[in-house]
Amino acid sequence: MSKFIVTGGAGFIGSHLCERLLGDGHDVIALDNFDDFYDPQVKRRNLRSVATHPKFRLLEGDIRDAEFVTRFIDDRIHAVIHLAARAGVRPSIEQPLLYQDVNVNGTLVLLEACRRHPHCKFIFGSSSSVYGNNVKVPFSESDRVDDPISPYAATKRAGELLCYTYHHLYGIPMTCLRFFTVFGPRQRPDLAIHKFTRLIESGKPIPMYGDGSMKRDFTYVDDIVDGVCAALKTCDAYRIYNLGNSHPLALRDLINVLQNSLGKPAKIEQLPPQPGDVERTFADIALARKDLGFEPRVNLEKGIARFVQWFRDESKQSTYQQELLATR
Ligand code: NAD
Repeated sequence: MSKFIVTGGAGFIGSHLCERLLGDGHDVIALDNFDDFYDPQVKRRNLRSVATHPKFRLLEGDIRDAEFVTRFIDDRIHAVIHLAARAGVRPSIEQPLLYQDVNVNGTLVLLEACRRHPHCKFIFGSSSSVYGNNVKVPFSESDRVDDPISPYAATKRAGELLCYTYHHLYGIPMTCLRFFTVFGPRQRPDLAIHKFTRLIESGKPIPMYGDGSMKRDFTYVDDIVDGVCAALKTCDAYRIYNLGNSHPLALRDLINVLQNSLGKPAKIEQLPPQPGDVERTFADIALARKDLGFEPRVNLEKGIARFVQWFRDESKQSTYQQELLATR
């Protein structure tokens, strides 16, 4: 059995990964600063099912704090799975310096700590946003990624480049995983599926930026976790893989699926397209299939049904969801 550090372990994807790794018998350290990008109480609830697990440890701290980070990355750690970040495209346009600080400097602090333990593998949570407005579809790992159209995307590409540098200089085994719009229970409240569900459920209009033709390759969180776990096993050099569903869906079709699943009509407020939003994402997953055995198993309808079930259960239990329902 192995010992892993999951940065951002209290977040949406991180908390699912911690559950899986513990379920597989590993020791897991979640490192998270519970930042205020969304309510930290939500993140504490994300860890409810693992908090008392004997092989789980939560470290509250900041990945930018070198002294803190180097205390915990030692020869006993088999891999660091680096998911901590300021996520979100639009807010990165408002706060580019913060995104740079957390996503680039934070990653560098972790890499500096890892270089003293070159056998420790490093998995970097990258993003489909690095493809920018790539016209060629599906997006493949060999495509140019030199035109990020938001600070967030640029920081994720910078993270991949730094990973390469540290692999080259110190031999750290590295895998960068480009996640494509992840959804499922505990999804971040700012993301479309969660936000639209909240608004449809409370009879409020949902803002649809553009004419609804914008497409996203929605990928279920368990499939992403499968991909991360496969990457942990194969990580031996420097590699980049897309982890996506490879079935992009237009925003207006997503709204239809949500209406059906919720059994309620959506009121749509059409707004101009937002700067920083890419027109489409569409993963070519041939490489991940070949090297990682990656195969998405949960389609959108099934995944949305699970999300809606979770959302309704949470709304009954948690005051936070009720507060969110009362606001936009
Ligand atoms: P999330 O915001 O739910 O999780 C990120 C976690 O990182 C949070 O718990 C936050 O408190 C923590 N964190 C932020 N700054 C930190 C710091 N300085 N020190 C320590 N912890 C810090 O986001 P998520 O959706 O779970 O995303 C996880 C990762 O996957 C991120 O790197 C994100 O960029 C990437 N990603 C996510 C998606 C998606 O659709 N959710 C898509 C592509 C890439």
